[in-house]
Amino acid sequence: MASPVFLEPDLDFIAQINSDSGLNLKKCYQCATCSVACTLSQDDQPFPRKEMLYASWGLKDKLIANPDIWLCYNCGDCSTLCPRDARPGDVLNTLRKMSIKEYSKPAAMHQLLNDSRKLPWLFIIPALIIIIMGLGTGLMNLSPGGDRIVFAHFFPVVLIEMIFIPLSLITGLVFFLGVKRFLKDMQATAAQGKGPIDYKQFLITIITQLPAIIRHERFSSSSENNRKISHMMVAFSFVSLAFVAGAFVFALYVLNSHGPYDQINPVKILANISGIALIAGSLLLIKERRAKAGQINGYFDWYLLGLAFFLGITGMLTQMLRLASIPWAAYSMYFIHLLFAFNLVAFLPYTKLAHLVYRTVAIAFHHYAKEKK
Ligand code: SF4
Ligand code: SF4
Repeated sequence: MASPVFLEPDLDFIAQINSDSGLNLKKCYQCATCSVACTLSQDDQPFPRKEMLYASWGLKDKLIANPDIWLCYNCGDCSTLCPRDARPGDVLNTLRKMSIKEYSKPAAMHQLLNDSRKLPWLFIIPALIIIIMGLGTGLMNLSPGGDRIVFAHFFPVVLIEMIFIPLSLITGLVFFLGVKRFLKDMQATAAQGKGPIDYKQFLITIITQLPAIIRHERFSSSSENNRKISHMMVAFSFVSLAFVAGAFVFALYVLNSHGPYDQINPVKILANISGIALIAGSLLLIKERRAKAGQINGYFDWYLLGLAFFLGITGMLTQMLRLASIPWAAYSMYFIHLLFAFNLVAFLPYTKLAHLVYRTVAIAFHHYAKEKK
């Protein structure tokens, strides 16, 4: 006779899902309509019905490190068709948020990032760091003067590097440690103790899956083609703006070419196109999210959309005020833009943008585990 299996429900976990999203897991009566409705769900490993069952039983370990929760792109079709209004799409969205919270440490950062009352601190803290660093090193010049507006005269590139390079390294370290634990937990759940992950094979899987992830192919499988376009606009603008920043650093140190650059400079053109794509893409995403009356939208979702929009807007305004030759306004807007850039880099592992990393790893692991079966 098979030995009995004891389940240890985590009641706090159930309560957190219910309270976080205004959901009621008890509504689900396991009809499986959601798994049938989901065009991304697979026959050999369907979701989200089983996740609804695990969630209502409080099986946190089976969910937090479950790659299937990352296969969902939150189109909301399953929630619309659920006969019990149990909102499985929103449950998966909440689980992804909990997974980010579990793996991106320290926990205190999530308290800062997930409470709208603390939003002013997300700007006060960077402002203080920037001002203290700027004035403390004597590199920040509050009255740059001169005939032309040159942001490097107000805030030199070396000062930006002194702030943003350590920030980027810390962000990279948080992701490295988080992904390491995430992979270990996914392997323990999937392989049920059958040895460690084969990192070489896993890396090969990531490389082979990357093109499909970048093309957002899974969006095409769901009913959300419009969201695919806006999502891609925002994602590509982030990537190309990172490239632009790198190109300007290269121009400065290797080519000894200082800004401001001509409007017809190819990198400048790319920067402007990326800025417009960031504003337009985030506006479209905000519109689409607002149009989904039934979907649960929390501060976690709105913070990232607001950040992307204002990052683009402040960047464009900075340039326009410089071209309009209004020094006080241009320098002030540049400072505000730096605060948004600080938010983006420093808080990346704790915001919804962490999806970029955890979703990529989870999708790659999903394929890796299939190959290993
Ligand atoms: S979430 Fe809704 S559709 Fe899915 S199994 Fe439960 S009751 Fe059925
Ligand atoms: S929200 Fe969309 S992608 Fe996610 S499980 Fe439901 S139907 Fe599938």
